[in-house]
Amino acid sequence: MSKAGFETRAIHAGWEPDPSTGAVIPPIYATSTYKQDGVGGLRGGYEYSRSANPTRAALESTLAALENGERGFAFASGLAAEDTLVRALCRPGDHAVIPDDAYGGTFRLFDKVERVWGLEYSSAPVSDVDAVRAAVRPGQTKLVWVETPTNPLLTIGDIEALAGIAHEAGALLIVDNTFASPYLQQPLTLGADVVVHSTTKYAGGHSDVVGGALVVRDLDLAERIGFHQNSMGAVAGPFDAWLTLRGLKTLALRMERHCDNAERIVDLLVSHPAVSEVIYPGLPEHPGHDVAARQMRRFGGMISFRHADGAEAALRFCERTRVFTLGESLGGVESLVEHPGQMTHASVAGTDLEVPDDLVRLSVGIESLPDQVADIEQALA
Ligand SMILES: *Cc1c(COP(=O)(O)O)cnc(C)c1O
Repeated sequence: MSKAGFETRAIHAGWEPDPSTGAVIPPIYATSTYKQDGVGGLRGGYEYSRSANPTRAALESTLAALENGERGFAFASGLAAEDTLVRALCRPGDHAVIPDDAYGGTFRLFDKVERVWGLEYSSAPVSDVDAVRAAVRPGQTKLVWVETPTNPLLTIGDIEALAGIAHEAGALLIVDNTFASPYLQQPLTLGADVVVHSTTKYAGGHSDVVGGALVVRDLDLAERIGFHQNSMGAVAGPFDAWLTLRGLKTLALRMERHCDNAERIVDLLVSHPAVSEVIYPGLPEHPGHDVAARQMRRFGGMISFRHADGAEAALRFCERTRVFTLGESLGGVESLVEHPGQMTHASVAGTDLEVPDDLVRLSVGIESLPDQVADIEQALA
Protein backbone atom coordinates (compact mmCIF):
# COMPACT_ATOMS: atom_id res chain seq x y z
CA MET A 1 0.00 0.00 0.00
CA SER A 2 3.02 2.32 0.37
CA LYS A 3 2.96 3.28 -3.34
CA ALA A 4 -0.73 4.24 -3.19
CA GLY A 5 -1.84 7.86 -2.84
CA PHE A 6 -2.11 9.51 0.56
CA GLU A 7 -5.90 9.27 0.81
CA THR A 8 -5.84 5.61 -0.21
CA ARG A 9 -3.21 4.81 2.41
CA ALA A 10 -5.17 6.74 5.05
CA ILE A 11 -8.21 4.58 4.37
CA HIS A 12 -6.70 1.17 3.56
CA ALA A 13 -3.21 0.85 5.04
CA GLY A 14 -2.83 -1.12 8.25
CA TRP A 15 -5.90 -3.34 7.97
CA GLU A 16 -7.18 -6.04 5.62
CA PRO A 17 -10.87 -6.88 6.06
CA ASP A 18 -11.05 -9.53 8.80
CA PRO A 19 -10.95 -12.95 7.06
CA SER A 20 -13.36 -14.51 9.57
CA THR A 21 -16.10 -11.84 9.40
CA GLY A 22 -15.23 -9.49 6.53
CA ALA A 23 -15.30 -6.50 8.92
CA VAL A 24 -13.93 -3.56 6.92
CA ILE A 25 -12.96 -1.62 10.03
CA PRO A 26 -10.69 -3.06 12.73
CA PRO A 27 -12.67 -4.05 15.82
CA ILE A 28 -11.83 -2.49 19.19
CA TYR A 29 -9.88 -5.45 20.58
CA ALA A 30 -10.73 -4.88 24.24
CA THR A 31 -8.64 -7.75 25.49
CA SER A 32 -5.61 -7.79 27.76
CA THR A 33 -4.44 -11.29 26.88
CA TYR A 34 -4.63 -13.92 24.12
CA LYS A 35 -5.20 -17.68 24.13
CA GLN A 36 -2.04 -19.56 23.18
CA ASP A 37 -2.18 -22.72 21.06
CA GLY A 38 0.22 -24.60 23.28
CA VAL A 39 2.91 -22.84 25.33
CA GLY A 40 4.38 -20.05 23.21
CA GLY A 41 1.98 -20.79 20.35
CA LEU A 42 0.91 -17.23 19.60
CA ARG A 43 -1.66 -16.37 16.92
CA GLY A 44 -0.33 -13.42 14.93
CA GLY A 45 2.29 -12.63 17.58
CA TYR A 46 -0.18 -11.41 20.22
CA GLU A 47 0.49 -12.39 23.80
CA TYR A 48 -0.36 -9.40 26.06
CA SER A 49 -1.86 -6.03 25.09
CA ARG A 50 0.87 -3.82 26.57
CA SER A 51 3.26 -5.50 24.11
CA ALA A 52 0.86 -5.55 21.16
CA ASN A 53 -2.86 -5.22 20.44
CA PRO A 54 -4.46 -5.62 16.98
CA THR A 55 -6.35 -2.29 17.06
CA ARG A 56 -3.21 -0.45 18.11
CA ALA A 57 -1.20 -2.37 15.51
CA ALA A 58 -3.59 -1.19 12.77
CA LEU A 59 -3.10 2.42 13.89
CA GLU A 60 0.68 1.99 14.09
CA SER A 61 0.83 0.60 10.53
CA THR A 62 -1.38 3.39 9.20
CA LEU A 63 0.77 6.06 10.83
CA ALA A 64 3.92 4.50 9.37
CA ALA A 65 2.31 4.41 5.90
CA LEU A 66 1.22 8.06 6.09
CA GLU A 67 4.64 9.29 7.23
CA ASN A 68 6.51 7.16 4.68
CA GLY A 69 8.12 5.34 7.58
CA GLU A 70 8.75 1.67 8.31
CA ARG A 71 7.38 1.42 11.85
CA GLY A 72 4.90 3.42 13.90
CA PHE A 73 4.29 3.33 17.66
CA ALA A 74 1.15 4.62 19.38
CA PHE A 75 1.16 6.02 22.91
CA ALA A 76 -1.27 7.25 25.54
CA SER A 77 -0.37 10.89 24.76
CA GLY A 78 2.08 12.98 22.78
CA LEU A 79 4.14 13.55 25.90
CA ALA A 80 4.20 9.81 26.67
CA ALA A 81 5.62 9.30 23.16
CA GLU A 82 8.22 12.02 23.77
CA ASP A 83 9.30 10.65 27.15
CA THR A 84 9.61 7.14 25.74
CA LEU A 85 11.70 8.43 22.83
CA VAL A 86 14.08 10.34 25.11
CA ARG A 87 14.66 7.30 27.33
CA ALA A 88 15.17 5.08 24.30
CA LEU A 89 17.80 7.34 22.72
CA CYS A 90 19.55 9.11 25.61
CA ARG A 91 21.43 8.36 28.80
CA PRO A 92 22.07 10.68 31.77
CA GLY A 93 24.85 13.08 30.79
CA ASP A 94 23.69 13.38 27.19
CA HIS A 95 22.48 16.63 25.68
CA ALA A 96 19.55 17.70 23.49
CA VAL A 97 18.82 20.85 21.51
CA ILE A 98 15.16 21.93 21.66
CA PRO A 99 13.26 24.80 19.98
CA ASP A 100 13.35 28.12 21.86
CA ASP A 101 9.58 28.31 21.38
CA ALA A 102 8.83 24.64 21.98
CA TYR A 103 5.34 23.43 22.81
CA GLY A 104 4.93 24.27 26.51
CA GLY A 105 4.51 20.64 27.58
CA THR A 106 7.63 19.61 25.67
CA PHE A 107 9.63 22.38 27.33
CA ARG A 108 8.33 21.31 30.76
CA LEU A 109 9.18 17.67 30.03
CA PHE A 110 12.79 18.56 29.16
CA ASP A 111 13.17 21.17 31.91
CA LYS A 112 11.42 19.51 34.84
CA VAL A 113 11.61 15.78 34.12
CA GLU A 114 14.41 14.81 31.73
CA ARG A 115 16.86 17.34 33.20
CA VAL A 116 16.30 15.95 36.70
CA TRP A 117 16.99 12.49 35.27
CA GLY A 118 20.31 13.82 33.89
CA LEU A 119 19.66 14.97 30.32
CA GLU A 120 21.04 18.44 29.61
CA TYR A 121 19.39 20.67 27.03
CA SER A 122 19.91 23.98 25.24
CA SER A 123 17.29 25.87 23.31
CA ALA A 124 17.76 27.49 19.90
CA PRO A 125 15.46 29.05 17.32
CA VAL A 126 14.60 26.37 14.76
CA SER A 127 14.58 29.00 11.98
CA ASP A 128 18.26 29.81 12.56
CA VAL A 129 20.45 27.02 11.22
CA ASP A 130 23.64 28.64 12.56
CA ALA A 131 22.17 29.01 16.05
CA VAL A 132 21.16 25.35 16.07
CA ARG A 133 24.65 24.34 14.87
CA ALA A 134 26.20 26.46 17.63
CA ALA A 135 23.97 24.82 20.27
CA VAL A 136 25.01 21.30 19.24
CA ARG A 137 27.78 19.74 21.33
CA PRO A 138 29.46 17.11 19.13
CA GLY A 139 29.75 13.82 20.99
CA GLN A 140 27.33 14.88 23.75
CA THR A 141 24.27 15.98 21.76
CA LYS A 142 22.12 12.97 20.92
CA LEU A 143 18.96 14.74 19.79
CA VAL A 144 18.19 17.82 17.75
CA TRP A 145 14.50 18.33 18.44
CA VAL A 146 12.50 20.48 16.06
CA GLU A 147 8.91 21.57 15.66
CA THR A 148 7.92 23.12 12.35
CA PRO A 149 5.73 25.10 12.33
CA THR A 150 6.34 25.85 16.01
CA ASN A 151 3.70 26.60 18.58
CA PRO A 152 2.44 29.30 18.91
CA LEU A 153 4.78 31.52 16.85
CA LEU A 154 4.62 29.33 13.70
CA THR A 155 8.35 29.56 13.12
CA ILE A 156 9.61 27.36 10.29
CA GLY A 157 12.68 25.13 10.48
CA ASP A 158 14.40 23.80 7.36
CA ILE A 159 14.16 20.05 7.99
CA GLU A 160 16.73 19.07 5.36
CA ALA A 161 19.32 21.56 6.63
CA LEU A 162 18.69 20.65 10.27
CA ALA A 163 19.05 16.94 9.47
CA GLY A 164 22.47 17.75 8.02
CA ILE A 165 23.52 19.58 11.20
CA ALA A 166 22.30 16.79 13.47
CA HIS A 167 23.96 14.04 11.44
CA GLU A 168 27.28 15.91 11.15
CA ALA A 169 27.44 15.88 14.96
CA GLY A 170 26.38 12.24 15.28
CA ALA A 171 22.94 13.20 16.61
CA LEU A 172 19.45 12.33 15.40
CA LEU A 173 16.90 14.80 14.05
CA ILE A 174 13.52 14.51 15.77
CA VAL A 175 10.63 16.41 14.17
CA ASP A 176 7.40 17.06 16.04
CA ASN A 177 5.02 17.04 13.06
CA THR A 178 1.86 17.72 15.07
CA PHE A 179 1.07 21.13 13.54
CA ALA A 180 1.55 20.07 9.92
CA SER A 181 0.19 16.52 10.12
CA PRO A 182 1.55 13.89 7.72
CA TYR A 183 -0.76 15.27 5.03
CA LEU A 184 1.08 18.59 4.81
CA GLN A 185 4.64 17.47 5.59
CA GLN A 186 6.59 14.21 5.77
CA PRO A 187 9.82 14.85 7.67
CA LEU A 188 11.28 11.34 7.19
CA THR A 189 11.49 11.96 3.43
CA LEU A 190 13.46 15.17 4.19
CA GLY A 191 16.08 13.41 6.32
CA ALA A 192 14.54 13.36 9.81
CA ASP A 193 15.15 10.22 11.87
CA VAL A 194 12.03 10.23 14.05
CA VAL A 195 8.64 11.87 13.64
CA VAL A 196 6.69 12.70 16.80
CA HIS A 197 2.97 13.37 16.92
CA SER A 198 0.43 14.45 19.40
CA THR A 199 -2.35 12.52 17.62
CA THR A 200 -4.68 14.42 19.96
CA LYS A 201 -4.55 17.20 17.38
CA TYR A 202 -4.99 16.92 13.58
CA ALA A 203 -4.42 13.16 13.34
CA GLY A 204 -7.36 12.34 15.65
CA GLY A 205 -9.00 15.54 14.51
CA HIS A 206 -12.24 15.43 16.51
CA SER A 207 -11.11 16.53 19.99
CA ASP A 208 -12.31 13.25 21.45
CA VAL A 209 -9.07 11.42 22.21
CA VAL A 210 -5.60 12.09 23.67
CA GLY A 211 -2.77 10.17 22.02
CA GLY A 212 0.77 10.26 20.69
CA ALA A 213 2.92 8.55 18.12
CA LEU A 214 6.47 7.97 16.93
CA VAL A 215 7.37 6.92 13.38
CA VAL A 216 10.81 5.82 12.12
CA ARG A 217 12.41 4.31 9.03
CA ASP A 218 15.46 2.73 10.61
CA LEU A 219 14.74 -0.75 11.97
CA ASP A 220 17.43 -0.55 14.65
CA LEU A 221 15.82 2.63 15.99
CA ALA A 222 12.45 0.89 15.77
CA GLU A 223 13.72 -1.93 17.92
CA ARG A 224 14.97 0.44 20.64
CA ILE A 225 11.70 2.37 20.63
CA GLY A 226 9.63 -0.83 20.64
CA PHE A 227 11.60 -2.15 23.61
CA HIS A 228 10.99 1.06 25.55
CA GLN A 229 7.33 1.27 24.52
CA ASN A 230 6.78 -2.16 26.06
CA SER A 231 9.10 -1.60 29.03
CA MET A 232 7.67 1.80 29.98
CA GLY A 233 4.10 0.84 29.10
CA ALA A 234 2.63 4.23 28.11
CA VAL A 235 0.70 2.64 25.24
CA ALA A 236 -2.50 3.76 23.48
CA GLY A 237 -5.50 1.73 24.58
CA PRO A 238 -7.59 -0.03 21.90
CA PHE A 239 -10.52 2.42 22.01
CA ASP A 240 -8.17 5.42 21.75
CA ALA A 241 -6.36 3.71 18.86
CA TRP A 242 -9.70 3.07 17.12
CA LEU A 243 -10.81 6.71 17.45
CA THR A 244 -7.49 7.91 16.07
CA LEU A 245 -7.70 5.51 13.11
CA ARG A 246 -11.21 6.77 12.41
CA GLY A 247 -9.89 10.32 12.41
CA LEU A 248 -6.99 9.54 10.08
CA LYS A 249 -9.30 8.29 7.33
CA THR A 250 -10.51 11.86 6.69
CA LEU A 251 -7.23 13.64 7.44
CA ALA A 252 -6.66 14.79 3.83
CA LEU A 253 -10.16 16.24 3.45
CA ARG A 254 -10.03 17.94 6.81
CA MET A 255 -6.59 19.45 6.21
CA GLU A 256 -7.64 20.88 2.84
CA ARG A 257 -10.61 22.62 4.48
CA HIS A 258 -8.56 23.77 7.50
CA CYS A 259 -6.11 25.36 5.03
CA ASP A 260 -8.84 26.89 2.80
CA ASN A 261 -10.55 28.54 5.77
CA ALA A 262 -7.31 29.64 7.42
CA GLU A 263 -6.15 31.37 4.22
CA ARG A 264 -9.40 33.38 4.02
CA ILE A 265 -9.18 34.33 7.70
CA VAL A 266 -5.58 35.44 7.24
CA ASP A 267 -6.79 37.75 4.43
CA LEU A 268 -9.32 39.27 6.83
CA LEU A 269 -6.83 39.72 9.70
CA VAL A 270 -4.08 41.20 7.54
CA SER A 271 -6.25 44.16 6.56
CA HIS A 272 -7.96 44.64 9.94
CA PRO A 273 -7.02 47.79 11.91
CA ALA A 274 -7.31 45.98 15.29
CA VAL A 275 -4.56 43.55 14.26
CA SER A 276 -0.93 44.66 14.41
CA GLU A 277 0.70 41.48 13.07
CA VAL A 278 -0.48 38.24 11.48
CA ILE A 279 1.76 35.20 11.79
CA TYR A 280 1.07 32.57 9.13
CA PRO A 281 3.70 30.71 7.08
CA GLY A 282 1.60 31.17 3.94
CA LEU A 283 2.20 34.93 4.00
CA PRO A 284 5.04 35.90 1.62
CA GLU A 285 6.45 38.22 4.33
CA HIS A 286 6.70 35.37 6.87
CA PRO A 287 10.47 34.79 7.30
CA GLY A 288 10.02 31.03 6.83
CA HIS A 289 7.69 31.28 3.84
CA ASP A 290 10.11 29.95 1.20
CA VAL A 291 11.21 27.00 3.32
CA ALA A 292 7.58 26.22 4.22
CA ALA A 293 6.58 26.39 0.56
CA ARG A 294 9.33 23.89 -0.24
CA GLN A 295 8.65 21.35 2.50
CA MET A 296 4.90 21.65 3.12
CA ARG A 297 2.01 20.87 0.77
CA ARG A 298 0.03 23.85 2.15
CA PHE A 299 0.45 26.11 5.18
CA GLY A 300 -1.93 24.65 7.73
CA GLY A 301 -4.87 25.66 9.87
CA MET A 302 -3.06 27.50 12.68
CA ILE A 303 -2.86 31.30 12.77
CA SER A 304 -1.39 33.56 15.44
CA PHE A 305 -1.93 37.30 15.53
CA ARG A 306 -1.15 40.23 17.78
CA HIS A 307 -3.95 42.52 18.88
CA ALA A 308 -3.17 46.16 18.09
CA ASP A 309 -4.75 47.29 21.38
CA GLY A 310 -2.59 45.17 23.68
CA ALA A 311 -2.96 42.32 26.15
CA GLU A 312 -6.35 43.28 27.62
CA ALA A 313 -7.87 43.53 24.14
CA ALA A 314 -6.35 40.17 23.19
CA LEU A 315 -7.94 38.56 26.27
CA ARG A 316 -11.27 40.23 25.50
CA PHE A 317 -11.14 38.89 21.93
CA CYS A 318 -10.64 35.36 23.25
CA GLU A 319 -13.69 35.70 25.51
CA ARG A 320 -15.95 37.25 22.85
CA THR A 321 -15.83 34.68 20.08
CA ARG A 322 -18.71 32.21 19.76
CA VAL A 323 -17.87 29.95 16.80
CA PHE A 324 -14.25 29.86 18.00
CA THR A 325 -14.47 28.11 21.36
CA LEU A 326 -12.12 29.33 24.08
CA GLY A 327 -9.94 26.35 24.87
CA GLU A 328 -6.51 24.77 24.75
CA SER A 329 -5.56 22.19 22.14
CA LEU A 330 -5.93 22.47 18.37
CA GLY A 331 -6.49 20.53 15.18
CA GLY A 332 -10.10 19.47 15.75
CA VAL A 333 -13.06 20.01 13.43
CA GLU A 334 -14.23 22.85 15.68
CA SER A 335 -12.48 26.22 15.73
CA LEU A 336 -10.63 27.09 18.92
CA VAL A 337 -9.13 30.31 20.23
CA GLU A 338 -6.67 30.78 23.06
CA HIS A 339 -4.35 33.27 24.71
CA PRO A 340 -0.95 31.50 24.78
CA GLY A 341 0.55 33.86 27.38
CA GLN A 342 -2.02 32.90 30.02
CA MET A 343 -3.02 29.45 28.79
CA THR A 344 -0.83 26.99 26.85
CA HIS A 345 2.38 28.95 27.47
CA ALA A 346 1.78 30.13 31.04
CA SER A 347 4.47 27.68 32.22
CA VAL A 348 7.18 29.49 30.21
CA ALA A 349 6.41 32.99 31.54
CA GLY A 350 9.59 34.68 32.74
CA THR A 351 11.84 32.39 30.67
CA ASP A 352 13.42 32.87 27.23
CA LEU A 353 10.41 31.07 25.82
CA GLU A 354 7.89 33.69 26.94
CA VAL A 355 5.42 34.78 24.20
CA PRO A 356 3.97 38.31 23.66
CA ASP A 357 0.96 39.03 25.90
CA ASP A 358 -1.07 40.51 23.02
CA LEU A 359 -0.81 37.24 21.08
CA VAL A 360 -3.91 35.25 20.13
CA ARG A 361 -3.76 31.76 18.62
CA LEU A 362 -6.49 30.41 16.34
CA SER A 363 -7.02 26.80 15.40
CA VAL A 364 -9.26 27.25 12.37
CA GLY A 365 -11.85 24.49 12.22
CA ILE A 366 -13.99 23.31 9.35
CA GLU A 367 -17.27 25.09 10.14
CA SER A 368 -18.84 27.29 7.44
CA LEU A 369 -16.38 30.01 6.49
CA PRO A 370 -18.93 32.88 6.62
CA ASP A 371 -19.75 31.95 10.23
CA GLN A 372 -16.06 31.90 11.15
CA VAL A 373 -15.47 35.26 9.46
CA ALA A 374 -18.50 36.92 11.08
CA ASP A 375 -17.38 35.63 14.49
CA ILE A 376 -13.89 37.10 14.16
CA GLU A 377 -15.25 40.40 12.86
CA GLN A 378 -17.63 40.83 15.81
CA ALA A 379 -14.95 39.85 18.33
CA LEU A 380 -12.49 42.37 16.87
CA ALA A 381 -15.09 45.18 16.65
C1 LIG B 1 -0.25 18.87 22.18
C2 LIG B 1 1.14 18.84 21.70
C3 LIG B 1 2.08 17.96 22.27
C4 LIG B 1 1.76 17.08 23.47
O1 LIG B 1 0.82 16.12 23.15
P1 LIG B 1 -0.26 15.54 24.22
O2 LIG B 1 -1.07 14.62 23.37
O3 LIG B 1 -1.03 16.69 24.75
O4 LIG B 1 0.52 14.86 25.28
C5 LIG B 1 3.35 17.94 21.74
N1 LIG B 1 3.71 18.74 20.72
C6 LIG B 1 2.84 19.61 20.16
C7 LIG B 1 3.29 20.47 19.03
C8 LIG B 1 1.54 19.68 20.62
O5 LIG B 1 0.68 20.55 20.07
